[in-house]
Amino acid sequence: MWSSELMPVTRPSDQACGKTTMTNKKIYATDGEKLAVAKQEALAGLAEGGIPIGAALFDEDGHLLGKGRNKRVQEGNPALHGETSAFLAAGRQRSYRKVTLATTLSPCWYCSGLVRQFRIGRVVVGDTANFVGGQDWVAAHGAEVVTMDDPELIGMMGTWIAGHGELWNEDIGEE
Ligand SMILES: [Zn+2]
Repeated sequence: MWSSELMPVTRPSDQACGKTTMTNKKIYATDGEKLAVAKQEALAGLAEGGIPIGAALFDEDGHLLGKGRNKRVQEGNPALHGETSAFLAAGRQRSYRKVTLATTLSPCWYCSGLVRQFRIGRVVVGDTANFVGGQDWVAAHGAEVVTMDDPELIGMMGTWIAGHGELWNEDIGEE
C-alpha cells in the first residue's frame, strides 16, 4: 500500500508560481553571451536618454535570473544602478555563491558592496577602461572577476561620458 505521504499531489500553487521548471529556459553558456544581455540593457538605457550601464544575473547553469539598467534619469532613482536593477529583477535568491553578475562597466563601490555582501561568486566586467570601482576588492574577498574589455562597450561608454560629464559625476559620487 502507498501511504498517503507518497501519493503524488498537485497543488495549485505549483502551477501558479512559475518557478516549477527551468528546463525550457534559454541557457547563456559563455561569459560573452552573458555580457551581451547586459549590453542590450545598456543600449536600451542609451536609447532612453539614460546612463548606458546594464547588468544581468545568471544561475550556475546559465539561466537568466534578472536583468536591468541604470535608471537614475528614467525613474529619478539614484539607487538603480545597472547591477542593483538586475539584483532587484532577480528577486529573492537563497544563495549567490554560484551566481554570475555580468555588468557592462566595472562595478562602482556601491555595487561592489552588493557583490561582497551577498557573496556573488562571479563578476563579468565589460569595460575597465572608463571606470574601475571595487572589482579588485571583491576579487580579494573571493569573487572570481573576469574582465572582458569589450571594445564596443568601451567606445560607447567613453563617448557617453565625454558628452555627459555632470550626470556621470552625479552617478559615481564625484564633485
Ligand atoms: Zn554601481
